[in-house]
Amino acid sequence: MTAVLAARAAVGPRLEVDLDAVAANTRLLAALTPGALMAVVKADGFGHGATGVARTALAHGASWLGVTSIAEALALRAADLRAPLLSWLNPVDADYVTAVGSHVDLAVPSLAHLDALTRSVTGARVHLHLDTGMARDGAAPEEWPALCRAAGRAERAGALRVVGVMGHLGCADVPDDPANAAGRAVFTWGVEVARAAGLRPPLRHLAATAATLTDPASRHTMSRVGAGLVGIDPSGTTRLSPALTLTAPVVSTRRVPTGASVGYGHAWYADRPTTLALLPLGYADGLPRSTAGHAQVWLAGRRRRVVGRVSMDQVVVDLGDDAVLPGTVATVFGPGHQGEPTVAEWAGWADTIEHEIVTGIGARVARS
Ligand SMILES: *Cc1c(COP(=O)(O)O)cnc(C)c1O
Repeated sequence: MTAVLAARAAVGPRLEVDLDAVAANTRLLAALTPGALMAVVKADGFGHGATGVARTALAHGASWLGVTSIAEALALRAADLRAPLLSWLNPVDADYVTAVGSHVDLAVPSLAHLDALTRSVTGARVHLHLDTGMARDGAAPEEWPALCRAAGRAERAGALRVVGVMGHLGCADVPDDPANAAGRAVFTWGVEVARAAGLRPPLRHLAATAATLTDPASRHTMSRVGAGLVGIDPSGTTRLSPALTLTAPVVSTRRVPTGASVGYGHAWYADRPTTLALLPLGYADGLPRSTAGHAQVWLAGRRRRVVGRVSMDQVVVDLGDDAVLPGTVATVFGPGHQGEPTVAEWAGWADTIEHEIVTGIGARVARS
């Protein structure tokens, strides 16, 4: 018993990634995609570990990798991932030389980017990025014809190759939203403008997870899917497999009398004698402070309320009259199979989306 406790106690908060779940999600999404499937592994694979998610996705139906920054792309290359790889969000003066030298495709969202790219390197593989309605990344439709003409000239001069046209839908999580048809129409127009400029990009990609799951007309020749790989369906239409489990061992327990108050601001007090358990993770580890009053964990066979405020490094859990040994492992969230809270529930308690929870787990939480 002592040895078991000691072994458990040596393990702090831990994030486990279920790559079998990622594999199953990838297969489901690949089956829906008539063209290629790009595994989007930005933000460390949505907090699930970029290289593990990338390897798994490539083994189960994805043939491309996608990230935002060149730094993320280079990290994948350094991990010996050699699949076609796109980086789509970079400042004008990004290190294009290193990117092209590492066979990283680059999205070009403006004339300024095209200009900087052609000045710094020859031989880039480019995906022209059109804003299809979000007023965010990508060239505005007013700039698009000029961008396509300039890219056509650069291609004919042998400076680069335009291999793709990309857009992104802002409301695909609501399949009925009229903005989806409008975005698709802008994209179709953008592809025609590119053709009229003499470009023949074989890759045309608009859909992310939600559109891939709900909107066949958006799928074109490739889908860029991130959230879905890790079990998040923004459209709420499809049962995917969540891939993360966050656990933490009980550091200590204490019996407190009626009236005992807990944590900063004494925001919760015991209205009866009760036993409290301390868990060593808090908002620095990704438990949103805004979940106070709602959050639960799974501990010793049932759900327990988190009481008082979420501190930076710790939370307190109400055990009632149950006894739990220090070292007992609590499950903060998991796939929900045992009754433990899910990431979706934590997102609801924090009034946010699952993406923010899974990408927000702090660096000091051990990964396995
Ligand atoms: C993050 C991102 C994706 C992936 O979106 P999911 O909804 O997570 O599949 C695709 N394209 C762009 C431009 C993105 O930023």
